[in-house]
Order: sequence, then structure tokens, then C-alpha cells
Amino acid sequence: MRARLVAGNWKMHGSRQANAGLLDALVAGLGKGGAQAARCAVCVPFPYLEQVAARLAGSSIAWGAQNLSEHAAGAYTGEVSGAMLAEFGCRYVIVGHSERRQLFGESDARVAAKFAAARANGLTPILCIGETLEAREAGRTEAVVAAQLEAIVATAGAEAMRNAVLAYEPVWAIGTGRTASAEQAQEVHAFLRGRLAQRDASVAQALPILYGGSVKAANAAALFAMPDVDGGLIGGASLVAEEFLAIVAAA
Ligand code: PEP
Repeated sequence: MRARLVAGNWKMHGSRQANAGLLDALVAGLGKGGAQAARCAVCVPFPYLEQVAARLAGSSIAWGAQNLSEHAAGAYTGEVSGAMLAEFGCRYVIVGHSERRQLFGESDARVAAKFAAARANGLTPILCIGETLEAREAGRTEAVVAAQLEAIVATAGAEAMRNAVLAYEPVWAIGTGRTASAEQAQEVHAFLRGRLAQRDASVAQALPILYGGSVKAANAAALFAMPDVDGGLIGGASLVAEEFLAIVAAA
């Protein structure tokens, strides 16, 4: 049985006060140290890592960041290294989110370097890949996601996916309210697992593949019922305790 994970991506949202309410509601809802079928995590803006670590201490909820530098240290103003995140107790870090790729020009090569930096520091990368609407309509979904996955596997090796999480996030479904159907998600997840299996069957079998893109309490159960959908990466709905808890319960 594969590990299941529901990870929240707060994006650039939050305040100390709002976070406190949200985190306390999540801890109350999931129980201190309680066992769940799915693991649960929140990926938050850097300044809130300390608050999240303190508030979630002793709970079953893990935490992480949304980005990291590909460099270990040095004259990189504004950047945050994997070692710094590890020192804060982060378990996860999102790598290659489509907003980073599109708005900040992160190439496949840079995403691969960030992925390697995360692993080198003992962090579990949540690697995001996904096609644009234009690519889907042109019938290029598989070619796009295969190339994005290949960029990592070609440099890090298939074995590098053993301590990683893959998130399929169609760009057209992120923050748009338009979700991939459960069947569309399953089709791409099965394709990705199959691609990886060509290199290493046991790594492919064990890899959690999350779906992300307008997941809500109302559509989570159908998505998570698919055999290759092992949980979700949740943006907007992770900011509402009730919604996020219901999504975790669905997993
Ligand atoms: C995301 O930010 O990764 C995401 C999937 O966002 P949303 O759930 O809001 O579509």
C-alpha cells in the first residue's frame, strides 16, 4: 500500500493571527499525534515556518516550504537554502510549482537543481508537473509531463524519486475552479507511473502521486478513489480549515 498525502500550499497568504486560527483548527480536527489514513502537511511562506513549527509541535501534521534555492550558500540575495529549511524542521518542500515556472521563469534544469538541493538536505521534494490548457488541447499532455519528469530523472536518476512526492497539477486547473475529472487525473497518473516503471518498477510502485488543481471537499473523494491518485496538493481550499479537514478525511 502506497503512502497517501494531502499537502496544503498556502501560496503567499497568511498573517500570524489567521495562521494561528487555521493551525489550531487543523490540530483540533486531526487530533494531537492521532493516526490517519493519509499523512497531512502544510507548505507555508518562509516567515511563518517558526510559527507553524511551534503550533504543530507534537501533532501529526508535517510542514514545509514552497520553494528553495538550488545553491547551498553564498551571495544570492533573497534566496533561502535547503539547509536553512532543514534547520527549521521542514519535512517537505514544493519544487517546480507552475507559478514558479511561469511567473519566475524556472526552467526544467533549475527545477532539477532545486530537486537535488532538497534531497541533499534530507527534505522530501514535492515535484510539480503539469500541462497548460494549450498543450492539452493540442494533445500534448503526455509529452509535456513526460519531459518535465524526464528532466529530473535524467539528472538525478529514477532512484531519486524514492524519497520524493510527485504532484500532477494541470496548469488550467490551478486556482481556476476547473478540476480535472477523476478519469483525466487517473489517466495522467497511470501514464507517469508507467514511464517511471520503465526505469525502475519498484520506485514507480512506491511513489505517491498527488493530484492538484481546484481540489475541494466536494470533489476530493472521487479523485482519491482512483487507483493511481495517492492524495492531493491543495491550494485555495487549504486555507479553510473545514475544507482542508474534509479533504484529508476523503484521502
Ligand atoms: C496549488 O496551488 O498547487 C493548487 C493546486 O491550487 P488550487 O487548489 O487553488 O487550485
